[in-house]
Amino acid sequence: MSKLVKTVVVVGIPGVGKTTVLNIAVNELLTKGYVVKVINFGDYMLQELIQQGLVRSRDEIRLLPLKIQREVQERVAKRIRYEIDSERDLHGESIFFIDTHAVVKTSTGYWSGLPYHVVKYLMPDVIAVIEASVDEILSRQVRDKSRERSDYGDPKLLSDLLMMNRMFAISSATLVGAPLYILYNREGSAKETALELVDVIINRLRV
Ligand code: ATP
Ligand code: AMP
Ligand code: MG
Repeated sequence: MSKLVKTVVVVGIPGVGKTTVLNIAVNELLTKGYVVKVINFGDYMLQELIQQGLVRSRDEIRLLPLKIQREVQERVAKRIRYEIDSERDLHGESIFFIDTHAVVKTSTGYWSGLPYHVVKYLMPDVIAVIEASVDEILSRQVRDKSRERSDYGDPKLLSDLLMMNRMFAISSATLVGAPLYILYNREGSAKETALELVDVIINRLRV
C-alpha cells in the first residue's frame, strides 16, 4: 500500500470547536503511529503581526485593515507550503492539518480565508467543514473565556455565517478540485467528531 501523506484543511465559524476536535484527532492518530502536524493559520498570522506591533491577541487580527490581513494571509500560506514540502518526505505516513477559516467577518464584509492566492499553496486533499447549531456555538463562545468572540455573538449573524461558511468553503474546494466533508460537532461529543475525521483520513482518503 502506498505511503499516506495528506493535507487536511479544517474550517468552521469561531467557537464551533475546530481546535478542540483537532487536538483529539491528533492524539488518536499518534496512537495509531501516524506523524501528525497541526498548523494553526491564525498562530502564524499572529506571530507575524505581533512582531510588527500591529496586534496583541488573535481576535484583533480580523479588525485590521483588509490590505494588511490580505498581505499576511498570503505570506503565511506560502510559509505553510514551504513547511509541508520540507517535512512531507522526512517521515512515514503523515497528516498535516491546517486549522483555519473559510470566511472571516471583517469591517468591509465577509472575506475568504481560502481565496486562490491561499488555497493554491495549501493544496488540501480534503476540506473538512465543522458545524454545530447556533445555540451550541453561542454557549461554547460564552463558556470559553480565553477568547474574545463577541463580534460573532449574535444568533442571526451566526446563522448567516453558518451558511456563508459553507458557501465560501465550496468556492475554495472548487478552485483546487478538493472534496468538502461536513462534520457535525455535537454538544459533548467532540471525540466522536474527531473519530469521524480520523476515519475519513485514514480509511477513505487512502483509496
Ligand atoms: P476559533 O475559530 O475561534 O479558534 P474553534 O472553532 O477553534 O474557534 P474551540 O476553541 O475548539 O473553537 O472551541 C470553543 C469552545 O467550545 C471551547 O471552550 C471548547 O472546549 C468547546 N467545545 C468544542 N467542541 C465542543 C463540543 N463538542 N461540546 C462541547 N463543547 C465543545
Ligand atoms: P483562530 O484562532 O483560528 O480563530 O485564528 C485567529 C485569527 O486568525 C482568525 O480570527 C482570523 O482573523 C485569522 N485567520 C485564521 N485563518 C485565516 C485565513 N485563512 N485567512 C485570513 N485570516 C485567518
Ligand atoms: Mg481555534
